Amino acid sequence: MINHRGPEFRALLPELESGLRWAFQTENDILIFPASGTGGLESAVANLLSPGERVLAVTIGAFGDRFADLAAAFGADVARYTLPWGEAADPEDLDDLLRREPDIATVLITHNETSTGVTNRLQALAEVVKRHQRLLVVDGVSSIGSIDLPVDRWAVDVAITASQKGWMLPPGVTMLGVSKAAWERQRSAKAPRFYFDWDRARKLQSKGMTFTTPALGILFGLREALTMMREEGLAAIFRRHLRIAAAFRAAAAALDLRLLADPEVASPTVTAIYFPDALAGEKSETVLKSWRDLGLVLGEGQGQLAGKIFRIGHLGAVYEDDVVATVQALERGLEANGHPVRRGAALAAARRALESSEPSLVA
Ligand code: PMP
Repeated sequence: MINHRGPEFRALLPELESGLRWAFQTENDILIFPASGTGGLESAVANLLSPGERVLAVTIGAFGDRFADLAAAFGADVARYTLPWGEAADPEDLDDLLRREPDIATVLITHNETSTGVTNRLQALAEVVKRHQRLLVVDGVSSIGSIDLPVDRWAVDVAITASQKGWMLPPGVTMLGVSKAAWERQRSAKAPRFYFDWDRARKLQSKGMTFTTPALGILFGLREALTMMREEGLAAIFRRHLRIAAAFRAAAAALDLRLLADPEVASPTVTAIYFPDALAGEKSETVLKSWRDLGLVLGEGQGQLAGKIFRIGHLGAVYEDDVVATVQALERGLEANGHPVRRGAALAAARRALESSEPSLVA
């Protein structure tokens, strides 16, 4: 048994903080809470906002909507910049919006929208937010550690992620990078907070402790994950995700399937693909079951996309062999449900994409 107020944990915590600083590409403080990603988002809202305050939520899908709803639940007056699902936010529109709304002090943005498989052009959006001198809070749940997000270079004030995504761990830990400006804001923000009080968390972490019982098993796993990530290197990890995403897009095209996202903003960590018309709606359940029987577990469409799309998650410990197995199962499941396939074409297309030269980074 490990005593979480004992020497092993006191040694572990600073090691995790420094590993996470490396992965977040930041010098900012790192906070760690036992919670899923939504808890991390809630901690940001609870520590930064005040009831009645005007806040901007940039939402391009279900998780952007969740962030906006969360801010509203804490009493913020939420302005929503909402895009049709499948699209990314436009930096010029964001610029116009912030110019029109000088009272907005905080902007909430999803980096990688897992429900639609779209990655926002965060660098350009962050530049706009900073030009207007607003606080930038980024949901990087399905991006940090898998998609390049240089927190300090892009001046992201709060960056949030969760253990079950690129960190290759079970769910249950959320991790945040918090800038000096965010700490300043935290001092005057009036929203109620207790479990997620950042100030108390920072004080205790500096003594090698946490307020509540930490998710010890996951945190020891995180030490291993960070070791693996350091061995591979951040740039190599980002490139691997880009290459694998390109392979899935190529396979989809070879299977005559349409992608939800424009390739320019298609996510390196999740690919959303339309069911063929003949297999959409209720029939999509049967296709998903065929895939499950083949050992392939895919994400369903959420909200307005239910029955229309499926999503392939490909982040963390995902390598070329996984792409091959996935594409083969995809093809078999579609064929079993009457979708015409040219056997082997999807795999050949995926292999070509995997072997192609450097894919470009989404910025
Ligand atoms: N934001 C994004 C972008 C996500 O992908 C998720 C989880 N899929 C969440 C927020 C919510 O995280 P959790 O389910 O861990 O609470």
